[in-house]
Amino acid sequence: MKAFQVNAVQNYALADVQTPAVKEKEVLIRTAFAGICGSDMHIIHGQNPFVQFPRITGHEYSGTVAAVGDAVEGIQVGDRVCVDPVVSCGHCYPCRIGRPNVCSKLQVIGVHRDGGFGEYSCVPAGNVIRLPETVTLEQAALVEPYSIASNVLNRMAPLPGDTLLVYGAGVIGLTIVQVARALGIERIIVSDIIDERLEAAKALGASETINSAEQDLEARISELTAAEGVPLIADAACIPALLPQMLRIASPAGRIGLLGFTATPSDLVQLEVIKKELTLVGSRLNNGRFAEVLDMIADGRLDPCALISHRVELNGMCEAISLIEDHPSLTRKVLVEMKG
Ligand SMILES: [Zn+2]
Ligand SMILES: [Zn+2]
Repeated sequence: MKAFQVNAVQNYALADVQTPAVKEKEVLIRTAFAGICGSDMHIIHGQNPFVQFPRITGHEYSGTVAAVGDAVEGIQVGDRVCVDPVVSCGHCYPCRIGRPNVCSKLQVIGVHRDGGFGEYSCVPAGNVIRLPETVTLEQAALVEPYSIASNVLNRMAPLPGDTLLVYGAGVIGLTIVQVARALGIERIIVSDIIDERLEAAKALGASETINSAEQDLEARISELTAAEGVPLIADAACIPALLPQMLRIASPAGRIGLLGFTATPSDLVQLEVIKKELTLVGSRLNNGRFAEVLDMIADGRLDPCALISHRVELNGMCEAISLIEDHPSLTRKVLVEMKG
């Protein structure tokens, strides 16, 4: 089969590889659509220590079932599906308390094992999610990025009437805006330093935007919230230096959701956390959030295709990677159609 394969750091190409053979508890999926994610770019740049090369990347994808292993029940050849990339052991502490997305032996499809940028992939049956009839394969390929947004918002426990501030209007920030809208959060403020991104945030449901390169973010938030501060802050900018500011502009009893995968320390003032009794939550991948996202898409509350800026076929993937690298502000979600 044909696949987009990363052979080593900065070395990737379309390759002819063996179609994987389905094991007892696995499902063989013929990929229909796959999204290119920032973390695919990190793998290419050698910024993901978990990857062993060569690797067929791609952790956002949909397809149809081509074969099922002998021990698989409830999934049939021809089913339209998408893939939850979180593979967990089921036995460690986080698995035992229902947090498999931070399993101590976590494997991510498309990172630790081959993923969706090939014509076929084999995944554990437990990672295969059947699609509601009204969800298209194109929409289903993008459930995974929205599951990230659903996970962080769930961890922040929004209450009716809460205002949300989203730092960063890149792809992750935009998915948070859309899912927050779908959840019924009415007031969504988005900050970024690029006007085009802020316009996209507005189009997808932000009620107010702040260009923090031009405006004093702290002063503006104080104005917008009558000096009360914001109860919900989602960090999709992932700049460690901004964390102290988040503590200052959070309201008492506020919840801050963190998504940045950075090893750079931040200077936190403990007093800010204690006196306001803030909650800082980390959010990694997703913990069973596919069902909620599929519901939102099925009933029309969420349109994942609004995030797509470019569409390519598998043949065009290497050019698409260059486009994302050379023009990051022109690209949002790039969707790969697996024609063959
Ligand atoms: Zn991703
Ligand atoms: Zn585990």
